[in-house]
Amino acid sequence: MTRIFGSPGRYVQGQGVIDSIEKYLSFDGSQAALLLDEQIIDIVAEPLGTGLAASGFTVESIALDEVPTDDRIDRIVDEIDATDVVVGAGGGRTLDITKAVAARLETSIVTVPTIASTDAPTSSLSVIYTEAGDFETLQFHGFNPDLVVVDTELIAAAPTRLFRSGIADALATWFEADTAYQAHAKNVFEGHSTRTAHAIAREAYETITEHGVTAVTAVEQNAVTPSVEAVVEANTLMSGLGFESGGLAAAHAIHDGLTHLDLHGATHGEKVNLGTITQLVLEGRPKDELHEFIELSIELGLPVTLEEIGLTETDAATLRRAAEAACEPVETIHNEPFEVTPSAVVNALETADRVGRTLKDG
Ligand SMILES: [Zn+2]
Repeated sequence: MTRIFGSPGRYVQGQGVIDSIEKYLSFDGSQAALLLDEQIIDIVAEPLGTGLAASGFTVESIALDEVPTDDRIDRIVDEIDATDVVVGAGGGRTLDITKAVAARLETSIVTVPTIASTDAPTSSLSVIYTEAGDFETLQFHGFNPDLVVVDTELIAAAPTRLFRSGIADALATWFEADTAYQAHAKNVFEGHSTRTAHAIAREAYETITEHGVTAVTAVEQNAVTPSVEAVVEANTLMSGLGFESGGLAAAHAIHDGLTHLDLHGATHGEKVNLGTITQLVLEGRPKDELHEFIELSIELGLPVTLEEIGLTETDAATLRRAAEAACEPVETIHNEPFEVTPSAVVNALETADRVGRTLKDG
């Protein structure tokens, strides 16, 4: 059994850290490409540009407002003359473009997440979409970002719903990484998990049970507190390392299945949360464990029913479409230590929804 653990080269987190990014840049070269999410360009362009210039880089900035498609990535690669480092600031899609562009140009990568809702900042892969905006494929780059810079002031100022979504994604990390560990399933690096990745995933869960609710309250006021710092670390670093080096299981596969239904804009993390509850049912977890997770979700303001993620049609045929997609051979649902069939997933989804509704009403 070969164990593999991957991670970014360095991780920096704190209030206002983008204002002194030059302290953390230790790359050779003189050319930098700065890819900026259009929505936050006014906030980050100046400090990042100044910091890169202070480190001796000539900066070429490119504004992004599109989903990561192969064509879009090719166009950006063509647009950049020559560069030694690609720095991306924004949400998951901007960071996925950044990593793909840097991989094609074979340069260093810096990610600057401005929301804490996904695992994109630390991971070695990009989610690629079709022109229509549907999921197309996962692109594996073979290496992780060299530097991740997380400014908690920016994160706390972003919409609370996205912060909550990151919490849901981080909670799933523990249940999936633990299942993958017990089942000796392979992780993203095609290796087996380490005790390190397993422990990090566990810490993500514990950090959120201890600090999640107070952190959400603080972020609602755009405030940075020690609990916000703890949860940003859980959402970004622990969740990112935990999923990639620990492994995924049913929760993310069920998320993927749910994306085949009409969900009216539920976020990644919101769909994952239903996936986690369904995974717990599928695994036959005891009532106390299942209820504890659902009650924590309710306290955190996370969805626990299909209706809450925007699914109005919950008949068996609709759920079957999601279940069949979740059980495609490439899906990580097959990391569960038993055979999973679409029928078992439909039963688990119906039960998860029912328990969620009961506890929500109670
Ligand atoms: Zn996720």
